[in-house]
Amino acid sequence: MNRANTLPWLERAARAYPERLAVVAGDTRLSYAQLRAEVERRAALLAQRGVGPATRVGLLADNSLEWLLAAHAIFWRGAALVPLHARATRSELATMGARVQLHTLITDRSDLASAIPTAMPPLSLTELQDAPEEPLQAQPITLHDPLIILFTSGTTGTPSAVPLSAANIDASAQASAERLGTFSDDRWLCCLPLSHMGGLATLLRCVIYGTCVELSDGFDEAAILQLLAERPITLASLVPTMVHRLLRHGRGRIHTSLRAILVGGGPVDATDLRAARRRGLPVLPTYGMSEAASQITTLPLDAPDEALASAGRPLPGTELRIVDEAGLPVAPGNPGSIEVRGPTLCTGYLGDDTPPLRDAQGWMRTGDVGHLDERGFLFVHHRASERIVSGGENIDPREVERVLRSLNLVSDACAFAIDHPEWGQELCCALVLADPSLPSTPPSPRAPALNASNDSLQTTLLEHCRQSMAPFKIPRRWFLIDELPRTASGKVRRRDLVSLANDNLKHAPSTF
Ligand code: ATP
Ligand code: MG
Repeated sequence: MNRANTLPWLERAARAYPERLAVVAGDTRLSYAQLRAEVERRAALLAQRGVGPATRVGLLADNSLEWLLAAHAIFWRGAALVPLHARATRSELATMGARVQLHTLITDRSDLASAIPTAMPPLSLTELQDAPEEPLQAQPITLHDPLIILFTSGTTGTPSAVPLSAANIDASAQASAERLGTFSDDRWLCCLPLSHMGGLATLLRCVIYGTCVELSDGFDEAAILQLLAERPITLASLVPTMVHRLLRHGRGRIHTSLRAILVGGGPVDATDLRAARRRGLPVLPTYGMSEAASQITTLPLDAPDEALASAGRPLPGTELRIVDEAGLPVAPGNPGSIEVRGPTLCTGYLGDDTPPLRDAQGWMRTGDVGHLDERGFLFVHHRASERIVSGGENIDPREVERVLRSLNLVSDACAFAIDHPEWGQELCCALVLADPSLPSTPPSPRAPALNASNDSLQTTLLEHCRQSMAPFKIPRRWFLIDELPRTASGKVRRRDLVSLANDNLKHAPSTF
C-alpha cells in the first residue's frame, strides 16, 4: 500500500489562492484565507477532544455553513469524516453508528445524538462555532486510507458504509473537471444533502479546484430560481425531481449563468431534460454512485441532443462494461449488468459481513442493469433488484413508468411488484395525477395515502397502456397517491410502496 501523504485540500487551496472566494452561504462570503482561519480554530477544539489521525468523527446535521466548516476541521486533523443522514431514524442511526465506531460525533441534533455510540461525548456545532481563535497546522492526510466513510442512500435496504480515500476523491474531481472544464471563477450550487454523495462531491470538488461553493440549506424551487437568477452560479448538481420542480414552478426561459447542470442519482426523465434545455437550463444527465465517489458517466457538453436520453459516457479514467449472467461482455444494444472499474472506486464496504465489492480484475458490479449503444452512451434501465418477473415474463419497471408519464394527466409514476401466489409477482403502479389546481409549490410532505380511483381514469390509463406496451406490461393493480415516498437523495422508496400496497389490499382493496 502506498503510504504517500498529502496536505488537506483546504490547506492546498488556501496557500495557492488565499484571496479567492471559497464559500457563499446566504449573505456570508468567505475567501480561502478566511475559511482556513475559521477551520483552524474549530480544528484546535477537535484536537483538544482527541480528534486526530486514525479517528473517525460523525457529522449529523442539515446542510449549513457550520457543516462545511466542521467537515474541513475534521480533515484538518487528518481524521475521517463520517457524514450521517440527518433524516434517518434513531434505529437507522444506531445501526450506522455501530458499523463505523466513532471517536466522537458533531451534531446539532441533541434528540438523536444518544442513538449513536461514540467513544467520547458528542460536540455541538455551536461549541465548534464558539471555539476561540487559534492557529493550528494541518495534519497530513494519507492518500489511500479512508478519509470519508459515506453511507449509501439506503434505497434498497440498510445503507452500506463506503470508505473513500483522498486518492478516490482526487481522481473523481479530476475526471469530472476533464468532462466539464474548470474556470477560476466557477461557482457550484450545492443544494443536495451534504451527507449524500451528490452534495458532498460538490463541496469537495470546489476546494480541490480552489473554486467557490454556493451553499443552499435546502431546496425550495422559488429560492433556487432566485439564486440562479441573481448570482454568478456556473455549475449545479440536481436530482431529477428538482429539475421537474424547477420546470413546474416557472414559465418561459430561465435566465442563469449556468454552463452545466449535472442531473442524476436516480432515473432521469428525458422529457424533463429536453424541456429544461429548451428553457435554457444546460442539463447533463449523469450516472453515479457512492461507491464510485459520485460520477461514473456524464453526457459530454458537446454531445448531440438525441443523446439526452442516455446517461452519457464514462468519465476519463473510468471503464464501464455490460455483462451477461455469466459475466461475459455483451454486444452494444444488449442489456446486462453494469460493471465499472477505475481509480475512483472504493475497495469494499466497511463491516465484516459484507461480500467483496470488486472481482480480481477490479470490476465492480453496480447492481444496475443497462445497455451501451454503438456510440458508447450508457442507458440505465433499472436496478437488478427491481426487475419484475410476472408469469415468467420480464418487466422493466422504468419502461412502464415512462409510458405512463408520457400521459399529460400523470405527474409521476412508479411501477413495482407484490408477491402473487400464481404469477410469482404481480405488477402494480402508484400514480401521482397532475392536477392543474395544485399550488405551484408542492404540498408539505405527508404520509402517502392510497385512494380508490374512477372509471374514466381507468379507461384512459388502460387504453394508453394497451397502445404502448405488451399486455403483460400493463399493471394489474393501480394506486393513486399524493406524492411518491422518496429518500433524502430524491429516490423513490419502492419498499414503502410495496408495504403500502400490501396493507391497502389487506384492509380495503381499492384498485381497479
Ligand atoms: P443503497 O445502495 O443503499 O440501496 P443507493 O444505491 O440509492 O442506496 P447511492 O450510492 O446514493 O445509493 O445511489 C446510487 C444508485 O443510484 C445507482 O446504483 C443507481 O441505481 C441510481 N442512479 C444514479 N444515477 C442514475 C441514473 N442516471 N439513472 C438511473 N439510476 C441512477
Ligand atoms: Mg447502491
